[in-house]
Amino acid sequence: MGTEFCKYCEDDTSCKNGHLYVIQLRDEIGHRYENKSEKGYLYVGETGLSVEERGRKNFTRKDGSYVKPDDLYSDRKKPLDEQQWPEDDNWEYDTKSIPHIRNYFLKYRPDLVHYENPIVYDKSDPNKLKRLEGKLADKLRNRGWRVINKVSWKNRASQTND
Ligand SMILES: [Zn+2]
Repeated sequence: MGTEFCKYCEDDTSCKNGHLYVIQLRDEIGHRYENKSEKGYLYVGETGLSVEERGRKNFTRKDGSYVKPDDLYSDRKKPLDEQQWPEDDNWEYDTKSIPHIRNYFLKYRPDLVHYENPIVYDKSDPNKLKRLEGKLADKLRNRGWRVINKVSWKNRASQTND
């Protein structure tokens, strides 16, 4: 019972609470940054789905087929016109950081989620999950990781204008 990220979730069924998750990207993504991280590169996210379900959606095509991260990684090494699964508009999820996850996925890091999942929804504190997501990202940055997506709690005021 339970999953790596939440003892109340099943792989395909969320416990209906919030979850924080951390994905480690391959060091290769460092070529995108002038200041390299010696520790590594992370994506920090939150979801009401089970983390496993949410993760599969990053690798799901619009026709419903799932591409294994390792298969996609090999495919991305080919010239663009030979790729079976390029960054076309046939992916189910396409927000800003998701293509980086598809390009550089290494592994999940439940050990770096410094809060206890699930994050129980609290009507009187609707920002709780977002706040903890931002705090977690800030904490990991302070420890030397590069968080590739823009979540933060410290800079929240300036970010609301994005
Ligand atoms: Zn859960």
